Amino acid sequence: MMKREKFIVMFSLLLACGVLFSSCRVKRGSEAFRLKARAIHDRALTVDTHIDTPMHLLREGWKIGERHDPSQRESGKVDLPRMAEGGLDAAFFAVFVGQGERTPEGYARAEERAMTLLDAIHKMAEDYPQLVEIATSPDDAYRIEKEGKRAAFIGMENGYPIGKDLSLLEEYYKRGIRYLTLCHTQDNDLCDSSTDRQNPEDNGLSDFGKEVVAECNRLGVIVDVSHISDKSFFDVLKVTKAPVVASHSGVRVICDVQRNLSDEMLKQLALNGGVIQVCFVSSYLKKEKPNPERDKAFEALREKYGSRRDIRDEATLAKMREEYAAILEKYPVERATVKDLVDHIDCVVKLVGVDYVGIGTDFDGGGEVDGCEEVSQMLRITEELLRRGYSEEKIRKIWGGNLMRVFRKIIEIAEKSK
Ligand SMILES: [Zn+2]
Repeated sequence: MMKREKFIVMFSLLLACGVLFSSCRVKRGSEAFRLKARAIHDRALTVDTHIDTPMHLLREGWKIGERHDPSQRESGKVDLPRMAEGGLDAAFFAVFVGQGERTPEGYARAEERAMTLLDAIHKMAEDYPQLVEIATSPDDAYRIEKEGKRAAFIGMENGYPIGKDLSLLEEYYKRGIRYLTLCHTQDNDLCDSSTDRQNPEDNGLSDFGKEVVAECNRLGVIVDVSHISDKSFFDVLKVTKAPVVASHSGVRVICDVQRNLSDEMLKQLALNGGVIQVCFVSSYLKKEKPNPERDKAFEALREKYGSRRDIRDEATLAKMREEYAAILEKYPVERATVKDLVDHIDCVVKLVGVDYVGIGTDFDGGGEVDGCEEVSQMLRITEELLRRGYSEEKIRKIWGGNLMRVFRKIIEIAEKSK
């Protein structure tokens, strides 16, 4: 008995030591790992090429310079303190204008909306000069990062606010716009969209669209090929004199939706010297399991309220969000994870190389993945990249190095043309 008891005591002690030892080792290891990831993350210039946060800037009482509780839906995904926490140095703030009527009145309204958003972005920089500065070049971004502030680039999502007046593009450029997403979810005067269900035939880039691409090249504005149809994409590549960027898109071979880029598109993009910025929109990262009841409920919601982005009134927006959340609660969607997201990055790297991929979340425009739901959690991406064996050099390329290379090239080409 004694012998057996002794054995049990000894065995338990050994077991306890073993567990203790191994847990210490795991803990030490993971702490060291986290520190290493954090250090790499902090050394890199981290750039997110698409956030829809400017819409929050127009909300009464919401201040981007204050930290908002991430657990509250109305907090949004981005504010300046959480950007700093997440180690995100720069972001392209989207001047998004939803597609409307292609009439003089429609163009005038779109221009007014664009100017309102531009004003709001500039006001942000005036209100918080110690936290953020408007950036218009890669040099700006590196300098602002060194000063410990956030760099706010401006991109225009949808060419609609140009109307038919090409000179407006230069006006927007003067106000800081450095990329133009040629269209949004519907066809416009520039080109066809990947998701226009009313006009499914794909006419690609229009003659006016070609002029707009040439003007972007002349000014040094990045041509953003996210949202545009396949034919539009290949047409753009035929006429552009500079590399292009897909500011927030996924990879079609993993998630087969029209909004994503096919392997052929990715190969052509790499040949053009451009870059795809992988987005955080779950439905572009991972195919949702079909759920006709949920689809029906969302359809009914859309009919009731129209497009979310066109709702100006805060109370209506809150009501719509509540109903949206209730539908999701009733018919939950399995959301993509950080791993799913990095699978898309891996896929681009394997197909064309590490020089052609980056990150463009679409925060506040539908972007969120499990594990990185808002901007303060951006380090998780670096951790996952590091876990998969990416070197610091490669991580830096993905986080901003590639985008800045492309941007420099675009500026260089514009300057040569003058
Ligand atoms: Zn978008």
